[in-house]
Amino acid sequence: MKVLLIGSGGREHALAWKIAQSPLLTKLYAAPGNPGIAEEADLVALDTDDHAAVVAFCKDKGLDFVVVGPEAPLVAGIADRLREAGIAVFGPSAAAAQLEGSKGFTKDVCARFNIPTGAYQRFNNAPKAKAYVREQGAPIVIKADGLAAGKGVTVAMTLDEALAAIDDCFEGAFGAAGAEVVVEAFLDGEEASFFCLSDGKSLLPLATAQDHKRVGDGDTGPNTGGMGAYSPAPVMTAEMVERTMKEIIEPTMRGMAEMGHPFQGVFFAGLMITEKGPELIEYNVRFGDPECQVLMMRLKSDLLPILHASATGTLDQVTAEWSEDPALTVVLASKGYPGAYDKATPIASLPQAGDGAKVFHAGTAMKDGQLVATGGRVLNATARGATVAEAQAEAYRLADAVEWANGFCRRDIGWRAIAREKA
Ligand code: AMP
Repeated sequence: MKVLLIGSGGREHALAWKIAQSPLLTKLYAAPGNPGIAEEADLVALDTDDHAAVVAFCKDKGLDFVVVGPEAPLVAGIADRLREAGIAVFGPSAAAAQLEGSKGFTKDVCARFNIPTGAYQRFNNAPKAKAYVREQGAPIVIKADGLAAGKGVTVAMTLDEALAAIDDCFEGAFGAAGAEVVVEAFLDGEEASFFCLSDGKSLLPLATAQDHKRVGDGDTGPNTGGMGAYSPAPVMTAEMVERTMKEIIEPTMRGMAEMGHPFQGVFFAGLMITEKGPELIEYNVRFGDPECQVLMMRLKSDLLPILHASATGTLDQVTAEWSEDPALTVVLASKGYPGAYDKATPIASLPQAGDGAKVFHAGTAMKDGQLVATGGRVLNATARGATVAEAQAEAYRLADAVEWANGFCRRDIGWRAIAREKA
């Protein structure tokens, strides 16, 4: 199979690393990729916003399959253009990608198909949203409707915070994404992520994970894209997984098909495990970053036929086998992140990782023959271990062996799971 992978982050490096291990693969291209991905694939300087150019490249090279890593091209309809051109693609249509592209759309799907989620209302002006918030009281959650690069959500513990968040949205803090606002009941519990493939009519449950969104140890400080993750999530017991499938994922798949938008791709469900059971916080329509890195570290099966089955409606013919051992990833970020940081700081060297461990590239580039950090989140030190504590020890051994003066990482990734192990 000749494959094109779209994206340039740690998620895509993990996908490239797994796809490159497939005996079915004859050629892997990545656009735009990064220096880590370059070890697994030929990098192509394609503008992935130019869908016609992507289709032309695939035709020219005779490619069989395209794997789309990030959400933005999916929401923009890249999968539709590829399917129209007769090219198999992993990732949903633009209509189905609304599950991530519009929080209001997802809440309406939940309401229509009885999927457990926080009570909500949608608003397109500030006065009505504020009146509703005053009526409901705090804590309450304010969300910009559209894609806001992981920002856009305010968990308001006071009424004043909630009112200010509504003003921010309608005053354009998140651009067009904030033209509509979803106000949602605050859900109390433990968060977990659940990943399940869909081909539009059948499902293949993958695995669970938990991430650390805050920049500081002890889950303090501002939110980030994610400072680390581990898989599986201890809170996702077999019973919780079964309930999530039955109460959330299956009705979503059926509902999307019924609405004329069959979902082909990965359901990445952000869940709150409340006293009542699993409730949906949000859907993403692609793998999580950095959750993908720990999933790939645990996946024993060949990834390529599994993704291809999701794209071609044959998911009932494949299975996914997982290592029982947990995996954990530590994100190394540029000092200053998630605020301002220096661009293009040199990374002197990366450690050699053994079996069951890998440093994935997320925000790196080559500049005059030197590896440099170009992003906020730059490297993902990832390892598997017999326990979360062992996976953590190995991930930090790798992270600490990275020679990069401008980098930092949290020191406590996995603390909740490790406390459970000790107990
Ligand atoms: P989202 O972008 O929808 O994942 O929201 C970002 C974060 O806000 C989530 O990971 C949760 O920690 C939090 N959050 C979102 N919605 C709720 C809710 N209804 N109740 C409590 N926390 C929430």
